[in-house]
Amino acid sequence: MKTFEYTRAADVRDALDRVAAGATPLGGGTNLVDLMKLGVARPDALVDVSRLDLGDVVLDDDGTLSIGATVPNADLAAHPVVRTRYPALSRALLAAASGQLRNRATTAGNLLQRTRCVYFMNTSKPCNKREPGSGCPAIEGLSRELAVLGGSSSCIATHPGDMAVAMTAFDATVHFETVDGPDQLPIQEFFRLPGDEPERDTNLPLGALITRVTIPPLAFAGHSTYRKARDRRSYAFALGSVAAALDVEGGIIRDVRIALGAASHRPWRAFTAEDALRGGRATIDAFSAAAGAELAAATPTTQNAFKVPLLQRLIVGTLAELAGIGGADDSAGAGISDDTGPDRTAADGDTGVRGVADDGEIDA
Ligand code: SF4
Repeated sequence: MKTFEYTRAADVRDALDRVAAGATPLGGGTNLVDLMKLGVARPDALVDVSRLDLGDVVLDDDGTLSIGATVPNADLAAHPVVRTRYPALSRALLAAASGQLRNRATTAGNLLQRTRCVYFMNTSKPCNKREPGSGCPAIEGLSRELAVLGGSSSCIATHPGDMAVAMTAFDATVHFETVDGPDQLPIQEFFRLPGDEPERDTNLPLGALITRVTIPPLAFAGHSTYRKARDRRSYAFALGSVAAALDVEGGIIRDVRIALGAASHRPWRAFTAEDALRGGRATIDAFSAAAGAELAAATPTTQNAFKVPLLQRLIVGTLAELAGIGGADDSAGAGISDDTGPDRTAADGDTGVRGVADDGEIDA
């Protein structure tokens, strides 16, 4: 690891000045430090922002949920307001990493984590994201975990997180400070597709410091969930995931939110499926048709073609669960654990949060 300067920020202004001068913000360090050890990230200076006064979770009078940048993922998952009003967010957080990591990882750090594409993580390999113009060996190589939607000829990496998938379903806004003052981006514009600039994961301006995430009130957010398919039940990145909220009355879908994880360079809001479902009957056939319409744009590789039917089943199974109807084939597929389904218990997972299982099930 190369040498670097480490400073602990005194306050937000101090942190901002240092970031504007080129320092990299250090939150929990659960991704950045790994990348530094691998030589993928080589900052000259780190500014520790983990002790800034940005650790609150507040429900504003108008119903907006405001989440500080330094709130540990474990605390956010366990927060009573999140558990009751945004269960998809709580479950997404609990489906990520391990209890120890969730105790360290922060809201802002989670948003800014880098792809786990094996070529990106290996400095002996070419990779357009790490070294622009060097090529993308994943497209013809190891791509099992990579994108099936929104990729480009330059990059097919996926955003590896879970939290941001639920935040995308809930139309979150990312707030940040720059030397010019406060600013914000809807999460849909915060994350970006790779295009011909895969080195940029987000549209966060250079020198900006994320301060908080807000989630607007959504009456049916309490009727939401998160499902994640992965190779093992714990401590594994998603092969596919779905955050969804559903509002059904008299068998008719009044409103719906769907976002997909591990499918694209950014959490993928399934607008096509949502539009197809609104105003129609809540049936397995309707869920299946909507999922198929969303995934019609998929361009998988030979190694990750399995993700398309996997995501199809995850969408249908998740919506069927929320609608309280059976008949969906919501299995993840051979050898893959769909570990946030309704049949799980709190018996076998270490969440780091008492009363909550590792797969997001709440142990009442
Ligand atoms: Fe690099 Fe993206 Fe290609 Fe992976 S998919 S090798 S991150 S350019």
